[in-house]
Amino acid sequence: MNPEDKYILALDQGTTSSRSLLIDKYGQVAATSQLEFTQIFPQPGWVEHNAEEIWQSQYHTILEVLDKAGKGLDKVACIGITNQRETTVVWDRISGKPIYNAIVWQDRRTSAWCQELIDKGYSAAIQERTGLIIDAYFSASKIRWILDNVPGASLKAQQGELAFGTIDSWLIWKLTQGKKHLTDVTNASRTMLYNIHRLEWDISLLTMFGIPESMLPTVVPSSHLSANAEIGGVVIPISGIAGDQQAALFGQLCLEPGMVKNTYGTGCFMLMNTGLNAVHSQNNLLTTIAWQINGHTFYALEGSVFIGGAVVQWLRDGLKMIEDAPKVEKLALMAPENEGVYFVPAFTGLGAPYWNQEARGSMYGITRGTTQSHIARAALESIAYQTFDVLNAMERDSGTSLTVLKVDGGATKNALLMQFQSDILECDLVVPSNSETTAMGAAYLAGLATGFWPSIEDIKSMVRPARVYHSNLENEKRSALLDGWHRAVRATIEWTKKI
Ligand code: ADP
Repeated sequence: MNPEDKYILALDQGTTSSRSLLIDKYGQVAATSQLEFTQIFPQPGWVEHNAEEIWQSQYHTILEVLDKAGKGLDKVACIGITNQRETTVVWDRISGKPIYNAIVWQDRRTSAWCQELIDKGYSAAIQERTGLIIDAYFSASKIRWILDNVPGASLKAQQGELAFGTIDSWLIWKLTQGKKHLTDVTNASRTMLYNIHRLEWDISLLTMFGIPESMLPTVVPSSHLSANAEIGGVVIPISGIAGDQQAALFGQLCLEPGMVKNTYGTGCFMLMNTGLNAVHSQNNLLTTIAWQINGHTFYALEGSVFIGGAVVQWLRDGLKMIEDAPKVEKLALMAPENEGVYFVPAFTGLGAPYWNQEARGSMYGITRGTTQSHIARAALESIAYQTFDVLNAMERDSGTSLTVLKVDGGATKNALLMQFQSDILECDLVVPSNSETTAMGAAYLAGLATGFWPSIEDIKSMVRPARVYHSNLENEKRSALLDGWHRAVRATIEWTKKI
């Protein structure tokens, strides 16, 4: 068969939808299919998904994408999987059925339990081993919750009858008809159970959390022929697996140490490739595994901003100032400057590098002359300032200084935001021509493992020119703007202190 005729099937299992993409030899997206699934909110702060529904929606998109492209399963060279991270599924090994809904990364039900661990002084030991800051976000406390709250689960787990997996593991279990229980290193590094230096499940952490090792998947490299999917009687290799943010870092070709990508979605997720070095953060960033390929483990520093594009959603839905997200740009452009108005969108507290859970959204510098346009501008600027703060922390941790930031996500369509971001960071911003960076990352990892693309150079050569924003702001102006922002953040933090 002519190899030109083959495709990579990229599965992009996200928080709100499952997607499948067919990628051709030239890195072009031949077809896509997407299906949303149910978000379950049993109580305030709890977020669950039905794991069976996730699988069904993913499977549906696999069949649909092939149908849309008019291709059969025999045209699929291999599969790459990328997924929402940390979300926890526990299932019965014999029946193959989940014993509880998937507990989603956003779920806060185990916050108090995590706070106890912090109070008992476990932070340093856990950060040293896992690279993570103790939080309900990661899988460990979610597994513990399931074992404690589903009748009989703890005993079954001790008897080796239960399996835990992040969404990649769950999909692979389903794709292989229950033959393979595995995960890749990037997903393992988000569980708070994996020792990112020794590259193994950390027995002392498992003991501490009371999680039997028999529940855990085998850990495999991100780019590696790990399993064979059986779909409709056709056997297809699964050869790429990575968590969504790591896949985006790879998809953006941030392959050298010091390269950084920032995703502007609901929140902002920034990752810096730190090469073969696991950099221990002094500034409250996470150390995580970027990918494992050809026997080498690459690390990354990660920082997130909770409210990124979500601030624009609030202008739309909360204030009803705009009809849709793109209209924010025109409104903001009506104010040529922020005229001293700053907006700290700490709706759910402040993330890296401040980590203040009590902080709330605040606006400063409002006068009689302040209009909706100033507020829209201040909202967009806040996304750029928060990104500045995370990047600054990364530069301090890594001792490198950035000249190019690769960007993706929905809000990168906003030229005002992108130009302002470049101005504030004093570096170039590169928007890729192919906006599917996450799925492309999974496809590249899969294609490199099977020889679909012989080398990374082949991939680099097919990436088309992107839009680039160049910094164009006097230093004095930049310093004044940043000074205003940092005063606003300080005031926001001060407000949380009760006298
Ligand atoms: P997610 O993957 O988190 O759902 P997306 O990458 O799809 O996010 O981006 C959606 C986010 O981008 C929303 O929060 C939306 O408000 C924001 N957004 C979309 N278009 C624009 C725009 N033109 N200007 C600013 N923000 C935008």
